[in-house]
Amino acid sequence: MSNEATPISGNIEPLMDGHGRPINDLRVSVTDLCNLRCQYCMPAEGVEWLSHDSILDFEEITRLIRVFISLGISTVRLTGGEPLVRRDFPTLAGMIGKLGLDDLSITTNGFYLERDADALVAAGIRRFNVSLDTLTRERYAEITRRDVFDRVIAGLGALEKFDNIGTIKTNAVAMRGFTEQDVLAFAEFARKRPYQVRFIEYMPLGGGDDWRAEEVLTGAEIRELIEQRYPLVPVIVDPHATARVWRFADGVGEVGFINPVSEPFCGSCDRIRMTADGKLRTCLFSLYETDLREPLRAGASDDELRKVIRDAVWRKELKHQIGDAGFRKPERPMSSIGG
Ligand code: SAM
Ligand code: SF4
Repeated sequence: MSNEATPISGNIEPLMDGHGRPINDLRVSVTDLCNLRCQYCMPAEGVEWLSHDSILDFEEITRLIRVFISLGISTVRLTGGEPLVRRDFPTLAGMIGKLGLDDLSITTNGFYLERDADALVAAGIRRFNVSLDTLTRERYAEITRRDVFDRVIAGLGALEKFDNIGTIKTNAVAMRGFTEQDVLAFAEFARKRPYQVRFIEYMPLGGGDDWRAEEVLTGAEIRELIEQRYPLVPVIVDPHATARVWRFADGVGEVGFINPVSEPFCGSCDRIRMTADGKLRTCLFSLYETDLREPLRAGASDDELRKVIRDAVWRKELKHQIGDAGFRKPERPMSSIGG
């Protein structure tokens, strides 16, 4: 299949869902594989992996992203699984980096960042989110089931030398009974290191069925813990941004809160997702997916692919149902959806 999709045209109507939300942001999962086993994401034994044949190759991913761009997608985040375990990932990033996006970013667990940082920045990735749930080695090994804390911290450090990337962000999943212990250490980390430290509320997306609402440590609770020591002032951010950002009142450092459970931001959602096997998901919590791989491999034209995408996006879910009586978890675990 050729990588030469129709050039981006100004005549094509941008993507819009049936609730009037313009869609600009695409999250692309490049693999469901991962080298960690975070407790909130995957069971210790892993999950059933996608078959090799079902995974889109680099040309297929690039072609589909070109089609999305022709529909007005301007920002792409690469994720997984762990994107950096995909073989030759920087080559893929470079192919996507040449497509003329406004913004290309990555979410990674940081394990391979020391190895790959130079190649990723050269490929055009300009924003990095690195998952970091705790600041102690033992607790990191407990939550990720892998004793690799030092390596992740070194990976973060490898990003610091670049002056052509946005603020480096760290992401901690906020779980009651675990995260409280790290909150002040994270606040101090955000003050000492050039990272925006973010907390994301624990969501029911792991491999198991063990999520309980009481286990979510909310952003408001974390902010209160921080403010007992360090006053914060709000920072104005893009209305589509998932994180509410606060700066320390003395101007030194920032923290962010992503509160999908306690303060859902579905009303301003401009995101869709594509899985590593080419399924379009219009919500993190979608129970239905639209197959793009099958028409792609059957020789669909760009116009035909655009129609499939447009129809699916029109049916984008109004909101997630976390906390509602009828809530059903998606069948795919988070590691396969792409966070
Ligand atoms: N492996 C990469 C990483 O960990 O950054 C990218 C994929 S991971 C699925 C993307 C993000 O989803 C990570 O920041 C991770 O912490 C978050 N995540 C995974 N399971 C989650 C859950 N149950 N609730 C909230 N966030 C979750
Ligand atoms: Fe892997 Fe990321 Fe899931 Fe952790 S959160 S198991 S690093 S995919």
